[in-house]
Amino acid sequence: MDIAVFSTKSYDRNAFEQYNAPFGHALTFLEPRLGPETLALGRGYTGVCIFVNDDCNAAVIDDLVAHGTRIIATRSAGYNQIDLAAAARQGIMLARVPAYSPHAVSEFTLALILTMGRKIHRAYNRTREFNFEIGGLEGFELRDKTVGVFGTGQIGRLVIKALHGFGCPILAYDRFPNAEVEQYARYVDQPTFARESDIITLHTPLTPQTQHLISDKILPLVKPGVFIINTSRGALLKTDKVIKCLKSGQIGMLAIDVFEEEADYFYQDLSEQVPTNDELVRLLSFPNVILTSHMAFLTDHALRNIAETTLGNFAEFEQTGQCTNQVVASVHDQPGARG
Ligand code: NAD
Repeated sequence: MDIAVFSTKSYDRNAFEQYNAPFGHALTFLEPRLGPETLALGRGYTGVCIFVNDDCNAAVIDDLVAHGTRIIATRSAGYNQIDLAAAARQGIMLARVPAYSPHAVSEFTLALILTMGRKIHRAYNRTREFNFEIGGLEGFELRDKTVGVFGTGQIGRLVIKALHGFGCPILAYDRFPNAEVEQYARYVDQPTFARESDIITLHTPLTPQTQHLISDKILPLVKPGVFIINTSRGALLKTDKVIKCLKSGQIGMLAIDVFEEEADYFYQDLSEQVPTNDELVRLLSFPNVILTSHMAFLTDHALRNIAETTLGNFAEFEQTGQCTNQVVASVHDQPGARG
């Protein structure tokens, strides 16, 4: 199939070229993100491949379909960047990679917890400058911290199993409790979860129900000095409220791999430019904030699985008109919520 691959980075290209031989797709690698300004680049391709920060809104979908596109496949599990209603109206196939490596994200979550907990990010910077003082680098031990895991799907469950090894009490919250999780964690209601957790880590998709989850409803309930980790989607946090709570000390530590307005910044080298997003600048100014650029997925296993599954999605659709990994709109999926 002729496929336009948007938002291509070197690691995408390497993996797609390495695993394309059995599929034989004609791949055109494009660096820009798909969006209203760049959609012309995708015209005429039967398949369009996108990533988390592309903008697949109704106008983009209508235009691509009018120019012959029959399938859009995202190289991610989440698909909040696609207007599902518009895709359904146009009858275009949508596909995704339902699970490429939950281990990649769960291990990254643990890395963020341990890095922040022992201030390794600050220690690293000090010793690079030949400053071998350790004052101010006091950390905490996980064994007596209560960790709340919000969302006990594939990633949340792995986080819980890893945390179990540290011997800490674990609380869980999910719409659909999981029997296996109950061996390691205690499911509680949302207010109890907020009140009793020393550390809160988020592992739910971005939906209208979870958008701005960490905002006015939960923040007044949390323990003063709570440590929040978000490796899911930026808009689970209401950024201005979170900054306010960091300033007051209500949030004591924050580690995020995602940011509400990341689409305009992440995956680009902007080091030569004047920063324009005040919330991003403010977050990066706190010593108790770690921010990484949506890279929790970025491992060898995940890149291989993403490439093989995505190329397979296009091949299956080409051969059968169906796709096992089709994205189907449900009552929980509404267009417009960006992550
Ligand atoms: P999953 O579908 O296996 O699990 C999600 C869980 O969230 C499910 O158990 C579901 O019941 C629960 N949930 C959904 N809505 C809820 C609500 N309103 N209240 C409570 N629970 C709710 O997904 P996963 O594979 O574990 O991935 C979780 C999220 O991680 C993804 O949606 C994606 O946004 C994010 N992610 C981030 C990266 C990264 O690189 N940072 C990579 C992959 C996935």
